[in-house]
Amino acid sequence: MWIGYLIGGVAAVCAYYTSVLADAPPVVRVTLYCLVSASAAIAVLCGCLRNRPRSPLPWILIGLSQVVYAVADCYFYIAHFVLDITTFPALADIFYLGHYPLVVTGLVVFIRRRSPGGDLPALLDAALLAVVTATMSWLYLIAPQAQADSPTLVKIVSVAYPVMDLMMFAVALRLILGSGSRPLPFFLLSANLLLFFAADSTYVLQQLNGTYGAGNFLDAIWLFGNLALGASALHPTMGLVGTPRPPDYDPGPGGYRIVALCAASLIAPAILLVQHFQGDHADIPVIAIACGVLFLLTIARMAVLVAHQRQIAITDALTGLHTRRFLETRLPAAMHECDRSGGSLALLIADVDHFKSVNDRFGHPVGDRVLIEIARRLRAVTRENDLLARYGGEEFAVLVRGTVGDDAAVIGERLRRRVAETPIALPDGRHVDVTISVGTSSYPLHGTTSAELVTAADRALYAAKEQGRDQIVLGDDPVVASTTGHRHAPVLLDLDALATEVDGWLSAHEHSSAVGAWAGLVAEHLGHSPATVRRCEIAGRLHDIGKAMISADIWSSREKLTDQEWRRIRRHPDYGWRMLRGVPGQEDVAVIVRQHHERLDGRGYPDGLRGAEIRAEARIVTVCDCWAAMLAERVYHAPLTEEQARAELLAGRGTQYDPDVVDAFLTLWDNGILGPLPRLRSRT
Ligand code: GH3
Ligand code: MG
Ligand code: MG
Repeated sequence: MWIGYLIGGVAAVCAYYTSVLADAPPVVRVTLYCLVSASAAIAVLCGCLRNRPRSPLPWILIGLSQVVYAVADCYFYIAHFVLDITTFPALADIFYLGHYPLVVTGLVVFIRRRSPGGDLPALLDAALLAVVTATMSWLYLIAPQAQADSPTLVKIVSVAYPVMDLMMFAVALRLILGSGSRPLPFFLLSANLLLFFAADSTYVLQQLNGTYGAGNFLDAIWLFGNLALGASALHPTMGLVGTPRPPDYDPGPGGYRIVALCAASLIAPAILLVQHFQGDHADIPVIAIACGVLFLLTIARMAVLVAHQRQIAITDALTGLHTRRFLETRLPAAMHECDRSGGSLALLIADVDHFKSVNDRFGHPVGDRVLIEIARRLRAVTRENDLLARYGGEEFAVLVRGTVGDDAAVIGERLRRRVAETPIALPDGRHVDVTISVGTSSYPLHGTTSAELVTAADRALYAAKEQGRDQIVLGDDPVVASTTGHRHAPVLLDLDALATEVDGWLSAHEHSSAVGAWAGLVAEHLGHSPATVRRCEIAGRLHDIGKAMISADIWSSREKLTDQEWRRIRRHPDYGWRMLRGVPGQEDVAVIVRQHHERLDGRGYPDGLRGAEIRAEARIVTVCDCWAAMLAERVYHAPLTEEQARAELLAGRGTQYDPDVVDAFLTLWDNGILGPLPRLRSRT
């Protein structure tokens, strides 16, 4: 039908020009012209009824505008050529001008339907081209019309045409350059808009320099513009004009567009040059403003482009998740943030189980669909703040900020369950069962660098695969730093040796051996049970092992420690607790270690506990620890004398220290039962 319409239309245009050349009676020409103009309006309305677009509103608005336009044409051509009335402005002008708001509204509705989320690049490109066009229109059409020696009403109407045309053209540019599907009717509609704009602008120009003649080539442009609109609406795919483009389609700005934009933005300075050489300086301010606006638009466009490129660089093309590189660049920053705030983070790595067999059974494209669906499911159960990335082919990673070890288990389980709970439906009706295995690690428990965290999570993932897949395994091998920078394996191996190692970093004394022995004796003296005494001994011996999680360099530094270093150091009770709580039967010792820097008055750390909230064993370890620390030589202070240490202990009695423990300790010390702080054997 649309082809038939076009053929009929071309025949009508040919007949029109034949009648012009043959000098046929004006009625024939006018009838032919008005027929084509009206046919476009009828075609749009017919197209709407026939093709029933899902959103007919923009088509109806454009159809109505064409009705108004055709009425204007009929008035104009009959008045001019049949009745020989050439007054300006006339009734026809009201209709001609009245059609613009309808077209523009229709186009805006199209634009909104086609780019639901907006399309900033297209808006900027259209603005740039519109500014160039507006500059030329101002210089060659609008200003000359406004300065012409004619009555005010004539001036107003004459200026209204190029202004309205400019508005329509700007909106048309946004439609043409913006996203959205591009079936043939889209191009026909674009042709209609561009042809009308070109013919209208040329018409005004010819009117100004007196070269316009009725029946010249401009009529052909208008007539073909009408035909393009009619054909567009009759085309069976006209309904697609108002639909967005598939979301994964992103061609970016093509080479042609960049060249066109560059060429367009050079027009304004080129005009400036021409005027300069012609010695005409009247328009320089207007052109200078246009150049400035063009420059700003170009910069804005570049900024949008850079942001877009960045987005592409950090986004996985298949799943839309973040890329592995992006995760790896964020991991150190997240760890730094943990150091600053004293929080922790978890890294989860998930690998799809037996994914090769999915590819083998269903083919690679289906494998891709399955990966997309898995990514969707993972995203559904991660929080906004979590960083979800495609880590490799069929591996995914989640960086969760502000967790402790147990949270990682809950999150990992949530991921696993969400993927496994329902089979993935394929378009052909078949279903694929998929499961994932998950390995996790936590900072700072399992490592202090990205590589260590990834290795720990990977190792846990490998264990999950080994143990039968479709499960989550928590990283459980804390990696600890030794003086040589060498990383030791499991903490369970030799906590005792670790305590000695830490002592070595801190001083030449067997600090923790002494604290362990003293704490046991004090507990005994206070009448505690043998089990409590034993806990005091172990907790005293291990109270500082959390320091193994802190870089050894801090301890040997002779510089004044920074606030951040102090904050790190103050986390050692928490680290110690984390290291010990997994040791079977030592849960209480872990808690005592966690509490050995609490103060009776609630001003201690890490939990600010007060009075009886602090375990009795911890209160004992605290006193022994402080005494040993005061007597030992450390990098950052000289040893106190016994008298000075005694005065310190008594000063903190009741605020920092448990009074009973202080009394018991000093009694035992004075009786020589606690013995001196031994030297570290291996280092003396
Ligand atoms: P398992 O992890 O449980 O040990 O078994 P698997 O079969 O998943 O093992 P493996 O890691 O060796 O296989 C991964 C497969 O994932 C191999 C590769 O062809 C496929 N793969 C990787 N990237 C893509 C992708 O982008 N699309 C598709 N369809 N397949 C991919
Ligand atoms: Mg796999
Ligand atoms: Mg794999």
